Amino acid sequence: MLQGKTAIVTGSTSGIGLGIAEAFARSGANVVLNGFGEATQIEKTRSELAHRTNAKIVYSPADMSKPRAIDQMVRQTTDTFGAVDIMVNNAGIQHVAPIEEFPDEKWDAIMAINLSSAFHATKLVLPGMRERGWGRVINVASAHALVASPYKAAYVAAKHGVLGLTKVTALETAEEPITANAICPGYVLTPLVKNQIPDTAKARGITEEQVVKDVLLAAQPTKQFVTVDQVAAIARFLAGDDAASITGALLSVDGGWTAH
Ligand code: NAD
Repeated sequence: MLQGKTAIVTGSTSGIGLGIAEAFARSGANVVLNGFGEATQIEKTRSELAHRTNAKIVYSPADMSKPRAIDQMVRQTTDTFGAVDIMVNNAGIQHVAPIEEFPDEKWDAIMAINLSSAFHATKLVLPGMRERGWGRVINVASAHALVASPYKAAYVAAKHGVLGLTKVTALETAEEPITANAICPGYVLTPLVKNQIPDTAKARGITEEQVVKDVLLAAQPTKQFVTVDQVAAIARFLAGDDAASITGALLSVDGGWTAH
């Protein structure tokens, strides 16, 4: 389905990004993995994924908080595969604290990684997509792009911004075979969610078990976590030709959270 296409998936050494990378590789795309982690573990992930899927997989260590590194990642991809056909802006971090205690540097990092990186990457890949007459921009936003939770000022603000960027990208490319869409997952039990449980417990004065039951799963009427594979399947659909008329859309995969 994605034979001959090349996808960059930012933040794909773990969690949702890795799931999307696997789904694309299984569909025949060349994939650029990106994200942090221990070098030998990343190489193991890369080589196992290539072996499992028969796809060409390379790794870019680009730090999404640095525009120059994003530029290098796009250059590395075009040097290796000749194009960037699918840009998945997925890298993201979280910090949980009340506004009065929210560290300025955490605000800046979340804005840079969760929002500005999507702008820089989109800006860099659109010219090639226009030239070749095909492209997909897929932004992994969040249910927090549509609704808020306390103690997540930077994350909620950045994710609302991602939605705005997605809509503008869609409008500016609407007359070409390029689409831009946002996926808005509810809670998926990845390291990003697991790591925020202790801080949420502290901020709310409750136990970690109560955070899972009364905060995380309470948000989702299904009372179940969304899975990585469910989010990856939507990304793969958006990347395909059947999704050519879906642009500027927000696809919620949130167990009914934003139906409230
Ligand atoms: P995760 O922590 O498992 O993965 C995050 C990835 O981003 C990792 O590969 C990490 O190395 C990478 N990363 C972090 N900082 C980076 C940087 N500066 N440069 C490059 N890579 C960087 O988290 P996840 O849950 O898989 O999150 C992926 C995306 O999905 C994020 O944008 C997150 O906001 C979004 N999301 C997650 C959930 C959830 O419940 N897990 C829900 C909605 C949206």
